[in-house]
Amino acid sequence: MRFSTRAIHAGQDPDPATGSVTVPVYLTSTYQQPEPGKEGKYVYSRTANPTRTALEECLASLEEGRYGLAFSSGMAATTTILLSLKKGDHVVAGDDIYGGTYRLFEQVLRNYGLQFTYVNPENPENVERAVRKNTRLIWIETPTNPLMRIVDIRQISKISKKAHALLVADNTFMSPYLQNPLAHGADIVVHSTTKYLGGHSDLIGGATITKDEDVESRLKYLQNAVGAIPGPLDCYLVLRGIKTLAVRMERHNENARTISEFLSKQPKVEKVNYPGLPDHPQRGIIKRQMRGNGGMLSFQLKGSFNQCKKLLNSLRIFTVAESLGGVESLIEHPASMTHASVPRERRTKLGISDDLIRVSVGIEDVEDLVQDLNRGFKAI
Ligand SMILES: *Cc1c(COP(=O)(O)O)cnc(C)c1O
Repeated sequence: MRFSTRAIHAGQDPDPATGSVTVPVYLTSTYQQPEPGKEGKYVYSRTANPTRTALEECLASLEEGRYGLAFSSGMAATTTILLSLKKGDHVVAGDDIYGGTYRLFEQVLRNYGLQFTYVNPENPENVERAVRKNTRLIWIETPTNPLMRIVDIRQISKISKKAHALLVADNTFMSPYLQNPLAHGADIVVHSTTKYLGGHSDLIGGATITKDEDVESRLKYLQNAVGAIPGPLDCYLVLRGIKTLAVRMERHNENARTISEFLSKQPKVEKVNYPGLPDHPQRGIIKRQMRGNGGMLSFQLKGSFNQCKKLLNSLRIFTVAESLGGVESLIEHPASMTHASVPRERRTKLGISDDLIRVSVGIEDVEDLVQDLNRGFKAI
């Protein structure tokens, strides 16, 4: 079956008990057992719940994996992966990974004796040089946030295999509709289902997907042992969102392309970061590993923080908010919002300047979005 069909049907056969076409929300913590000492398919909902199983099977299918696990947030999924490491293990990570992931690594997991090195993975040699004897994980995101840099999954996977380390790819920005990192050599895909998979800005959730049986058994053990699981209602909402993922992503793609072209022509814009721009320096890698360019972009204004504020405040359709991937368009100022906790010096080094604006392009009528941005530019 092809993607759009799997999004609607994988893991979602009509309910065996009732024939319900939609996967029911199984609001139960525990299950009747056939007899003492003999377990049924479900025992206790931290371990497994039928609504969650449906979501996990669907996610595995969409990411071209064999096993999916759902978590209560993207960070819960990330934490669970990291808990498979031991004191003294080393992780190589991209230097502009999601801020919450960086915070977890530096402020929480370092205290438990894990070691982290951050490099720019746009150049795979940087990753290769950072690998040590005790490197167990390589952690990448592509495209990166908010500068939309592209990381070559296949090149990095060659390095991780040589190092006997697992390659984890955070695929939140692309969604499985536009990119399948497992098909390019990643060992684990992680998602914040809060974003495109959920798609309606109405839930917090996360997921891991893998093809590897050993990796799966370790993660599944930890999912149950640690317990950072989503409730059945949240699983239902993600499944509901996934049913329209393909059509939503098509529109996100189209709208973001139109807006990136509009921004490129603006005299007040210094630079637009969007994988779909024809002069993107990493076109070759984009073509190889992505099936579209997604709905995320950022641009640098020729101006100050004050002008950014003025622009954002004068918009009526774009909502000034963090997060991304919902049907509605969001706009934000990374230096004072999503990336405010990154020290200025580090921000400057990464290229996240005070005049950078990030946009999550929604699926509204693009003419209205362009008109709204036009209003913003006239105001500065
Ligand atoms: C939002 C996000 C996360 C964290 O997910 P939560 O659901 O907020 O815990 C991780 N990675 C990326 C790329 C994200 O955008």
